[in-house]
Amino acid sequence: MSEEKALPLRGVRCRGCGRTAFPVQDFGCERCGAHGDDLEPVELSGNGTVLALLTVHEHPDPAVPTPAAIAGIQLEEGPVLRARVGAGVDAAGAAVTAAADGGVLVFQKRNGADNR
Ligand SMILES: [Zn+2]
Repeated sequence: MSEEKALPLRGVRCRGCGRTAFPVQDFGCERCGAHGDDLEPVELSGNGTVLALLTVHEHPDPAVPTPAAIAGIQLEEGPVLRARVGAGVDAAGAAVTAAADGGVLVFQKRNGADNR
């Protein structure tokens, strides 16, 4: 993945029930089963909230720098994903926003947001 491809985040929104899914998929809405043209491509804000996080101290791929913080993040549009988080993101409830770091998706602390 190139740095340019890491952002923006693209998902699909169901025209039937409004549920948003990330990443883009075409197997049907997870809530109501609508598919095909009922799944509308959307660009997501990249803003979310940390649900939980942990620190990886050893990784089987030596190219992955450690320690690395990994978090479960709920995007404001609803989908939950796991991704790396940047320095200063240290607790559940932190407000974060998506950024690209060398082509890798990393969520950084969101400036101007209430962090707890
Ligand atoms: Zn639906």
